[in-house]
Amino acid sequence: MKQRAFSSTSSVHGQCLCGQVCFEIDFPAFWAWHDHTRASRVAHGAVYATYVGTWRKRFRILQGEDQISRYEDKDTGSARSFCRRCGTPLIYERARSRHMINIPRALFASRTGRQPIYHIGIDEWQDWAYTGERLVPLKGYPGVAWERGRKKKRMEQDAPF
Ligand SMILES: [Zn+2]
Repeated sequence: MKQRAFSSTSSVHGQCLCGQVCFEIDFPAFWAWHDHTRASRVAHGAVYATYVGTWRKRFRILQGEDQISRYEDKDTGSARSFCRRCGTPLIYERARSRHMINIPRALFASRTGRQPIYHIGIDEWQDWAYTGERLVPLKGYPGVAWERGRKKKRMEQDAPF
């Protein structure tokens, strides 16, 4: 993996939904990736999770450390930390890379210095994920857009013959 050299270090700030937990990482992050595995899908309650990975020594909790709960998955050896007040997933530590801290990309309001061009568990990709199909406004429901014609297309694709 390419890592550009930066002469001056700056940091990027992130926080949970309720704002009790604040943290920062040194810029730029090491890498960013989409995680399609079941564990991350369920832990986030989302079709996939996007993480920013950074070296542990480049990560700092600024506020709310006592608000963080931790769940250790005995089967995989991984650990997930989240805000005990609002439930936001904060840190994902994978058994295979103990020196890395993975943070949901969504918790950063600004750029992290890495684009999520990598995918883990792409074979677990879900067919209900939105992949950029053309959307049109749904008449009578302000703020709702939909993929007109998708249902018909999908039913044809799912036909057994
Ligand atoms: Zn919170």
